Amino acid sequence: MSEAQSIQWFPGHMTRTKRQIEKSLKLVDAVAEIIDARIPVSSRNPVLDKLIQSKPRVILMNKCDMADPAQTARWIAYYKAQGIPAIAIDCKTNKGLNGFIPLVKEVLKDRIAAWQAKGMVCRQIRVMVVGIPNVGKSSLINRLSKGGKANVEDRPGVTRSNQWFSIAKGFELLDTPGVLWPKFEDKEVGEHLAFTGAVKDEVVDTEHLASRLLEVLRDRYADAVKQRYKLGDIDLSELKGYEILEWIGKKRGMLISGGEIDTERASIAVLDEFRGAKMGRITLEAAPAPAGK
Ligand code: GDP
Repeated sequence: MSEAQSIQWFPGHMTRTKRQIEKSLKLVDAVAEIIDARIPVSSRNPVLDKLIQSKPRVILMNKCDMADPAQTARWIAYYKAQGIPAIAIDCKTNKGLNGFIPLVKEVLKDRIAAWQAKGMVCRQIRVMVVGIPNVGKSSLINRLSKGGKANVEDRPGVTRSNQWFSIAKGFELLDTPGVLWPKFEDKEVGEHLAFTGAVKDEVVDTEHLASRLLEVLRDRYADAVKQRYKLGDIDLSELKGYEILEWIGKKRGMLISGGEIDTERASIAVLDEFRGAKMGRITLEAAPAPAGK
């Protein structure tokens, strides 16, 4: 973990967020956890499971426009097998957002039936939206509340105060109180967050990061890398990330004086293009195989 990250991640901060969430949970019927479909493991907060175990929960796999659709489908099946309804959404184009209210109604169907049996026909349904910074919470709330107050920020980690949003008749959303940090202290989690741009680039070494990303892609999406960088004639399987980076710089004609390859420029290109889904739709964390297979 870099110094800048360790400054962000301090226990007091998380303790405060935990307390705020515990308090706010009493005000809602369900929790909607928003995650990044490209990194379904790393974009989840490690303590959240425990915190919200007593609440009905749904998972929203956001940024599905950039994730591998086959993997997204496998993750949705995986969550379903665990009793958590999930859908794929894309807050850039609104894709899948119509499924949000039906999804929450599905997870609350027994409760809704019980309210109706008691004659509580106008009972509000309240849902808390939780997610780590930069996962798309503000975008989701803005989209669902058609404008409204949530701030969309490109910078990760911007705190917003506790706010309610009305999204449909009888339906209200509560934004996460506090900042729910991801599990930075895990090296792989930190890397995956950095690959997707959820961690600021100033806190990581660009060439190292791009090399690591290329190693992950080499093992799971070699064809996408080959196609993007015209490396069809090269066997990537034996190459280290940095060597792939050199090939990319060479193919793109990124040279500095003396004919040396400008790997710094190549790194920036690789990271930008991955984040812009220019290599295609990629999921960095594969769904576990279904039980018995
Ligand atoms: P928050 O920190 O969780 O509130 O995240 P934001 O809503 O501010 O979004 C972070 C960044 O992700 C912004 O640049 C958004 O435009 C972008 N974003 C959010 N949802 C999507 C999505 O579904 N697809 C894509 N491609 N980008 C998204």
